[in-house]
Amino acid sequence: MTSNPYPLGLRLHGRRVVVVGGGAVATRRVPALLDAGADVLLVAPELTPALRARVDAGRLHWVQRRFVPEDLDGAWLVHVAVDDPIAAASVSAVAAERRIFCVRADDRTAATAWTPAVTRHGPVTVAVLGGGDPRRAMTVRDAIRDLLAVRLAPDATASTPSPSDASTGTTGGRQAGRVALVGAGPGDPELITVKGWRLLTEADVVVADRLVPGLLLDELRPDVELVDASKIPYGPSRAQEEINQILVDRALAGAFVVRLKGGDPYVFGRGGEELLACAAAGVPVTVVPGVTSSIAAPAAAGIPVTHRGVAHEFTVVSGHLAPDSPASLVRWHALAGLHGTLVILMGLKNLAAITATLIAHGRSPQTPAAVVQEATTGTQRVLRSTLGAIAADLVAADLRPPAVVVVGDVVDALNG
Ligand code: SAH
Repeated sequence: MTSNPYPLGLRLHGRRVVVVGGGAVATRRVPALLDAGADVLLVAPELTPALRARVDAGRLHWVQRRFVPEDLDGAWLVHVAVDDPIAAASVSAVAAERRIFCVRADDRTAATAWTPAVTRHGPVTVAVLGGGDPRRAMTVRDAIRDLLAVRLAPDATASTPSPSDASTGTTGGRQAGRVALVGAGPGDPELITVKGWRLLTEADVVVADRLVPGLLLDELRPDVELVDASKIPYGPSRAQEEINQILVDRALAGAFVVRLKGGDPYVFGRGGEELLACAAAGVPVTVVPGVTSSIAAPAAAGIPVTHRGVAHEFTVVSGHLAPDSPASLVRWHALAGLHGTLVILMGLKNLAAITATLIAHGRSPQTPAAVVQEATTGTQRVLRSTLGAIAADLVAADLRPPAVVVVGDVVDALNG
């Protein structure tokens, strides 16, 4: 009959932790130790490539040999991650003699400490011990993780930003609001990042774009104020000022505002302008990158933007302005001279003029080309053609925005 374990949160920052073994178990254990700031010493004759890379990066110390008792000098904790029970037992014995807690991958009954299944939600850490059944621990952990993603009150997290939110670190209490510019991904609601999703669940106010996946908004708490940025009247530049003002006003009133934008906030998303407006008003901003349609839309159509031996570059360009527009900042004649992949966003309206310009300046009309409409959604459509024919084919097929145009040999790379 064993007693219940006594849970603790170990504060390992700067403290020596010894990991004995350099295989798969050590590879899984070491990242969390490094994340906790531990001073990790690895003792193993050989390492997996992943551990080797961390050693090469100077993140931890490695002694390349078998364990000797002196390895535990100065240690606060030891992880035994070797298969050989005799070798493991000898490490345990030295640890016990020195009163150092010892985790055993090979034999939990011989261990003096157990590692829980863990989930983190910003500053909150939940650790689950399954009474000897790791799968039970993981099932409970997964259930709690899902619950936290939806339920955790914003008050609980707003005052203690995660270490990576460096720009929000100085605001302190709940009174000071803040803004997060979050990339929502290209369309499939599952293509938001884990961090973006967490911040969304913590928001008091969400300001969303037209291209943001609707299902993400479906899951917001009922008390969240949702501002639909696409419904703001006035022209595009006045509307942008209006949005900037909403972000600043709500944040200054103490709210946590998530500005949710299609794809990545900085790819033709005017995220930079919003960041500057907040900065000018003294509102702290976190930027969470998103999966951009410029890469995801081709991928969803089976087109890799680069492919070995086919394309060593990809260029993302806005087709919003016609090539002969005096306001255009794009040097289309230079792009015509490239061999690699060209990805055109917002380009359907001007596609005939764009393709004619590319061909006039030297790109072959036979170059494979494709249009991907509403990529990663249930209504995705793909049209494959050539640079010379795609503008006409597009009209015939009645494709519409939002769509990405891809030009280059990569269009056929996986399709040949
Ligand atoms: N910030 C966004 C792009 C905004 S510009 C991003 O990183 O994806 C808007 C353009 O993006 C649209 O005109 C279209 O060209 C492209 N786009 C966005 N979502 C798309 C989707 N699901 N499928 C195809 N194109 C998309």
